[in-house]
Amino acid sequence: MQGLIFIFVSTYTLSWAQPPDIQKLYGIPEKGYRWPKGVVPYVVGPKFNENELDFIKAAIKAFRIHTCIKFIKRSGQKDYISIEKKPTGCWSSLGRRGGMQKLNLQKECLLTPGPVMHQLMHTIGFLHEHNRSDRDKYVKINFKNIIPGQEVNFQKWNNTEHFGLPYDYDSITHYSTKAFSRNNKTTIKARVRRI
Ligand SMILES: [Zn+2]
Repeated sequence: MQGLIFIFVSTYTLSWAQPPDIQKLYGIPEKGYRWPKGVVPYVVGPKFNENELDFIKAAIKAFRIHTCIKFIKRSGQKDYISIEKKPTGCWSSLGRRGGMQKLNLQKECLLTPGPVMHQLMHTIGFLHEHNRSDRDKYVKINFKNIIPGQEVNFQKWNNTEHFGLPYDYDSITHYSTKAFSRNNKTTIKARVRRI
């Protein structure tokens, strides 16, 4: 894998219906992209309002409570993330890249903590649930319904690390059934009946 990989996500694909079990996700297998000891130093840019800062704090706290990952305020560490608010979408580089790396949250991603958590998952090295190498057993991707040019969001990756955990349809990194649809028809269909 070379250079930065930006994961773009449309906000409507995310939800915060219930606290997700963040541990039930998967990641890129290369350990060099991980954050040593699970510690991720961060700085926050100046453009966020109080509510938005609260959501960022809530997302960070959820990681501390539910996982072994700790986001800490940067105090001189070489590798860190800069959380910024520019009108360029909601995205993060994937895993630890070395030096300063960005995570961007435009205002539409700052209405609940969920989308913030979603991007922080990318920061620590997790792709989307439906990018798992074994996803075809669980979902069918209807490429004909995807907006042309957005197919990359549905790419299947090779040899993803699942940490022994099953496919999770309710993952905070799983897109909704009509994500990136060009015709309001399903782009991701579950292969098993879901209640
Ligand atoms: Zn994403």
